[in-house]
Amino acid sequence: MTQTTRTKSRPLPRLWIRPLLRRLDPYVPGEQPKIRGLIKLNTNENPYPPSGRVLAAIKAATDGRLRLYPNPTAQALREKLARLHRCKPENIIVGNGSDELLAMAVRCFVEPASRGVQRVQALVQFFAPSYSLYPVLAQIHGAVANPVPLDPDFALPGLPELKRGKQYNFNAALTFITTPNAPSGRGYRTGQLQEICQAQRGLVVLDEAYVDFADENALSLSLKYPHVLVARTFSKAYSLCFQRVGYLVGHAELISVLDKIRDSYNVNGLGQVAALATLDELAYYRANFRRIIATREQTSSQLSELGFQVLPSQTNFILARPPIDSAKNWLRKLRNRKILVRWFDQPSIRDYLRITVGTPQEAQALVKAVKTELS
Ligand SMILES: *Cc1c(COP(=O)(O)O)cnc(C)c1O
Repeated sequence: MTQTTRTKSRPLPRLWIRPLLRRLDPYVPGEQPKIRGLIKLNTNENPYPPSGRVLAAIKAATDGRLRLYPNPTAQALREKLARLHRCKPENIIVGNGSDELLAMAVRCFVEPASRGVQRVQALVQFFAPSYSLYPVLAQIHGAVANPVPLDPDFALPGLPELKRGKQYNFNAALTFITTPNAPSGRGYRTGQLQEICQAQRGLVVLDEAYVDFADENALSLSLKYPHVLVARTFSKAYSLCFQRVGYLVGHAELISVLDKIRDSYNVNGLGQVAALATLDELAYYRANFRRIIATREQTSSQLSELGFQVLPSQTNFILARPPIDSAKNWLRKLRNRKILVRWFDQPSIRDYLRITVGTPQEAQALVKAVKTELS
């Protein structure tokens, strides 16, 4: 690679960068600080490592084969996922994390807003608060974001309520529903999701990033309705954030359209190896889900006893409204005690902290820090 000398940075000519991107507010991921001894409860990572066999499979694949391109369609992984979900490989597309697939869905199914394009065709709809990536994806694409407020207790509005309200659009080109929801942690009933899907004329993506920590999942809807896709990821429940593997399940025709715009080698080889090995170790992961759920329930009740208003969670994190001081100050106070949680500067959740469920030891440290602050 040639060395370039960078002189003093001067502003570049404005015409080099699209106006849309000059205006863009990018997605802000949680911090990944390298502070020794920090308890990291801010990005919903799994506190337990991948299974030993998964680590061994990754190590075994790290040899001269790294010079080769990986399988372009993640064929073996799609076959194994198809057996797991009782569908065909044609119903599955694998992505470089599910984030890539959410972006591809916008690019496949939503028109950029422009003259001559009906507003509904350019509409990316989602509930608010939910995953803060969706409005960014809409903005990048030049589409129109339609955030529909959840009920004040973060429940999903019922179908009659959505029909009565002015905001929700049953013809929106694409509707994202995070289920269970983030950052509220609330679970939605499959029956209610089905009602919404049935009434929806545009496409629906059910983003099930946290579903392994929930009581029910809605995967069946993606195999029953041609306009419903379900997004899953190996990141959260399967301790593989680092490897970036996610997938969508849905009608073969939708999947084949997504496949048309997919980067040829979008899923790296070690990620495919890791995900394949993970599917052989489901018992190990299911035991971890149970542990995380037990820690979640215990931490929720301990924080409630300390005056936090804790929302019931179906995920691996808790949304809690701290007592006495503002959530923003609590974020700082806990950080000073080497515990990192997440706070969102958004009207509906400004008073809350989102706390990832860690190991029982990490949860104990959190409760202890809270007690010390309160005493
Ligand atoms: C973490 C997360 C994702 C993205 O997961 P990756 O597979 O790591 O890209 C998608 N949706 C929601 C709601 C998430 O919280």
